[in-house]
Amino acid sequence: AVVIHRKMKKSGKWVKAMEIVKEFEESCRTPISKLKQVADAMTVEMHAGLASEGGSKLKMLITYVDSLPTGNEKGLFYALDLGGTNFRVLRVLLGGKDGGILKQQFKEVSIPPNKMTGSSAELFDYIAAELAKFVAQEEDDFKPTSGRPRELGFTFSFPVMQTSIASGTLLRWTKGFSIDETVGQDVVAELTKALERQGLEMRVSALVNDTVGTLAGGKYANNDVVVSVILGTGSNAAYVERAQAIPKWHGLLPKSGEMVINMEWGNFRSSHLPLTEYDQALDAESLNPGEQIYEKVISGMYLGEIFRRVLCRMAEEAFFGDVVPPKLKEPFILGTPVMSAMHHDTSPDLKVVANNLKDILEISNTSLKMRKVIVQLCDIVATRGARLSAAGLLGILKKMGRDTIKEGEKQKTVIAMDGGLYEHYEEYRNSLENCLKELLGEEVCKTIKIEHSNDGSGIGAALLSASHSQYLEDES
Ligand code: BGC
Ligand code: MG
Repeated sequence: AVVIHRKMKKSGKWVKAMEIVKEFEESCRTPISKLKQVADAMTVEMHAGLASEGGSKLKMLITYVDSLPTGNEKGLFYALDLGGTNFRVLRVLLGGKDGGILKQQFKEVSIPPNKMTGSSAELFDYIAAELAKFVAQEEDDFKPTSGRPRELGFTFSFPVMQTSIASGTLLRWTKGFSIDETVGQDVVAELTKALERQGLEMRVSALVNDTVGTLAGGKYANNDVVVSVILGTGSNAAYVERAQAIPKWHGLLPKSGEMVINMEWGNFRSSHLPLTEYDQALDAESLNPGEQIYEKVISGMYLGEIFRRVLCRMAEEAFFGDVVPPKLKEPFILGTPVMSAMHHDTSPDLKVVANNLKDILEISNTSLKMRKVIVQLCDIVATRGARLSAAGLLGILKKMGRDTIKEGEKQKTVIAMDGGLYEHYEEYRNSLENCLKELLGEEVCKTIKIEHSNDGSGIGAALLSASHSQYLEDES
């Protein structure tokens, strides 16, 4: 009798866990019809955000970048790329017309988590000190020829209201950052003060979002680049807009007739987004409740955490035995890279899944059947994210009139894409690309290409700092 009782209990918890997975899968569904509604909503919000300041959840920020690199940029330029879990410093030697990038060096440094939530001065002092160290290691063949100060492109990957190409105030932090006193401050002034405290003479000649850097870097490599997307810790997109189509822009019409727009699409939200109870809870307990809702379902910072939340719910129904494994209760313990590793486990007995469960969550003795469910869960979370980002991309292409083929036109649209999620999470990347194909149709898809722009954002910032240099030697 005891044995039978145990078996029943066991199958009961199995049924319950499967119900949770099924219900979750159901609320994550992204049929094409729904994705088209998401894309349309994105297009509508883009219009609204361009029409007036505060007109939409989409900030559609004016970047003051009205021309992208031409290839004539020349000289030594630095860049500092701050925005994810790491930041990078780099220097490039640009060769001017036909010269290209002659030489580049970079250093990547991880940001101690306490610096992301401490004080403004602490964060900026930390990055300025790293930059100073890097500059001190400059070799002779990088040394500037003239006596002019070194110039820097500052990639700052948060929503900033720019007041010029080289100034702008922080609207709010996103991702893992939260330092109240920086909000409303000019981040270039903050950096410049920190550079002065380091005794480092350097001038910030361009302040750019990572999407804008990626767009510039992408364009330098391929002239057909007109859109950029970041899928990393956070997510965002930028694109080239006609200046005439920006009603809220009251400045002079740029010579190029164009303006790069930093959409800040992470803050998009729509009733068409398939959000679950897990997303609601994640949002409520996040550093920025109510904000960055789209980002919270598509980007790298959150996918692993959504996955953990569902798994935790299953554990409450005794999926892993009578107690919920304590580690599983720790927010953000399951990073997206781990989730990705489990998702891509091709070993017949799902060894990678088993090892990760053991190493990170201290869960052992899972059956193969259980591990298969866990992989399925990864798939649900990643697929929803990937397909929703494809829908966002369709929204942009629609706004640009590039979602159809115009008669007699041989237009090519290249999207510069960067970020660890896109780069390393193969299932996500494939799902995004397949979905975009499905949304656009075979013919249109032939005119659209996604190009991985490896660290385009840093180089792009250096290029923009060159084209906005105060000491520009005009070659043209
Ligand atoms: C920020 C954007 C940034 C994106 C990707 C988002 O959280 O708001 O400014 O471009 O992350 O780094
Ligand atoms: Mg980056």
